[in-house]
Amino acid sequence: MNNSAMYALNGLTILALRSPDICRDEVLTKFTDLVSETLNFPSSFIAILDDHYQYIKASHNFDLDGSVRSDSLCQYVADDVSPLIIPDTHADSCFASNPFVTGSPFIRFYAGVPLKNREGAFLGTLCVTDSVPRSFSADQLATLEKLSQLVISFLEAWHSAGFTDPVTGLPNRQQLIRNLHTLGKMEKSSSYRLILIDLIDIPRAYELARTLGMGPVEGLLRDMATLIPLRLRPGPDDLIYTVATGRFALLTQASTHFTAEWVATKLAGVSADMGEGLSVDLTTHAGEALFNPGKFPPHEVLRKAVSALHEAICQGVSYMSFSEKNDERRTDDFTLVNDLATAIRFNQGIYLVYQPKICLNTGLPIGLEALIRWRHPVRGELSPSVFIPLAEQTTLLQDLTEWVIDKTIERLKRLDSSPLQLPVTVNVSVRDFSQEGFADRLETKMINARLSPELLGIECLETERIIESAAAMAGLEMLKLRGFNISLDDFGTGYSNISYLRRMPLDVIKLDRSIINGLTTDTASRIITKSIISMLKELDYVVLAEGVENVETLDVLREFGCDQAQGFYHSRPLPEPELDEWLSWKIRR
Ligand code: C2E
Ligand code: CA
Ligand code: CA
Repeated sequence: MNNSAMYALNGLTILALRSPDICRDEVLTKFTDLVSETLNFPSSFIAILDDHYQYIKASHNFDLDGSVRSDSLCQYVADDVSPLIIPDTHADSCFASNPFVTGSPFIRFYAGVPLKNREGAFLGTLCVTDSVPRSFSADQLATLEKLSQLVISFLEAWHSAGFTDPVTGLPNRQQLIRNLHTLGKMEKSSSYRLILIDLIDIPRAYELARTLGMGPVEGLLRDMATLIPLRLRPGPDDLIYTVATGRFALLTQASTHFTAEWVATKLAGVSADMGEGLSVDLTTHAGEALFNPGKFPPHEVLRKAVSALHEAICQGVSYMSFSEKNDERRTDDFTLVNDLATAIRFNQGIYLVYQPKICLNTGLPIGLEALIRWRHPVRGELSPSVFIPLAEQTTLLQDLTEWVIDKTIERLKRLDSSPLQLPVTVNVSVRDFSQEGFADRLETKMINARLSPELLGIECLETERIIESAAAMAGLEMLKLRGFNISLDDFGTGYSNISYLRRMPLDVIKLDRSIINGLTTDTASRIITKSIISMLKELDYVVLAEGVENVETLDVLREFGCDQAQGFYHSRPLPEPELDEWLSWKIRR
């Protein structure tokens, strides 16, 4: 595309003026009223001209909506981009046979001046006419020109209002959308690139605003708006926008050297001085989408660039190009989280299964673990390992935990004073019990159901995160204080520092399946497991082995002094009816 066309994106364009806007045109009509009154002419009008048509946008006592350009008198003003005065159309061979002279509105006198935008590009005309021949003084022409400048000032202001970011002064998202729209109409074949740039961690910025006030943060945003063009040195065709707080965009042709990678490299290591001795390190993330303006609607282009940017942020890398595959996965994940919210809300398709825990001394079941299951209406049975990690990124996990707890309590209540009653543990995340009042709410639920707290236990993961968080530690202490049983899940995976255990109020340590796996085949694994079990026993923990799949493993565990076992060897996790049948059979034996 040529320079002037890209240039035109930023300024007031014929395209923008051609599109209907009742409020704007009402003001233009008031201008024509003023023109007629001031210059004492019966008729006046404002016309916009493109290559083919003249559009009369506003008029005073002038009965014409528009015409083809070649019939208009204004085309001569457009061609020369200078004023035109025709004192008597009948006396001029050039105009005597014009259809608007020989027919309605029977123009006999015409004076028109060009309307030009700030860059000097011709947009249209401001004209006065009469049905009788007249003269037009230099003063009158000067007045008409002054009025035309007022019209242009108004149109420029109207055009840019709401299209500029008030803090950075850069064109905003609405302007970007508008420009993408214009490109779509002008450019059918070239490829473009939209790069989104995040420099500021917005939650961090608002945290700063809380301490320092909005002033320094707005100053930071303005600094960024200055810094980006300084570092990137965009050409006249490359436009920079502020699309959201702390989020910038660069719109450029695909063939330029501006890519997300290049931009991220150029902006790496930026830091900002916030005054008062505070400096913030800024992390650059960039996401880009390549597109053909004619083929994609503006909002879709922006969405793709946002998708790429978010992928970069999520993956912790500095830049990312839009990828259909990542986008689909994110969309799938998003849909799944949405579906899960519906499932929880309407109690549809989610249910609990329970896996028994066996006492290795007696061989009898001594407890249950509740595990969530989801029968998705389209995707069928889904493993919790598919949807729990997604729910964990949102507040939905809290709703899910609440649901699991309520269902578990329902079961406990139903089996109250039944020989099948066994304590049940539920899986909770650090975020769950870090909430203020979690233990109190749990206690209230149990009291309302007239159940003793020993019947309910929680299983938690991530020792390190718990130790590091005061809220998590307090939550756990409170649960312990209220009499709930606490198990540490998956011990032996990831970070398992035994000295850490002492700082947490734990009752049961669950040895992860990966430790148990090699017990019957691998000597090293036997030695390690044996010493772990004896150490935990010495520290007075109840030790439970997870994922026990065969009798050989069970025998070794019993020999090592392990207290409890859970696994497919005894039972898979079972839905309630089958579980109760299994329990009755076990007890009868
Ligand atoms: P987890 O808490 O470690 O649960 C044990 C997992 O091992 C369960 O998988 C269970 O079905 C499986 N399992 C039990 N015995 C054996 C065995 O002998 N061999 C093998 N190969 N596997 C066995 P599941 O139900 O798919 O759950 C996976 C994970 O999802 C759970 O690991 C837990 O972290 C999470 N999860 C399940 N339900 C919930 C829930 O209600 N809330 C939360 N927050 N997480 C849950
Ligand atoms: Ca568990
Ligand atoms: Ca586990």
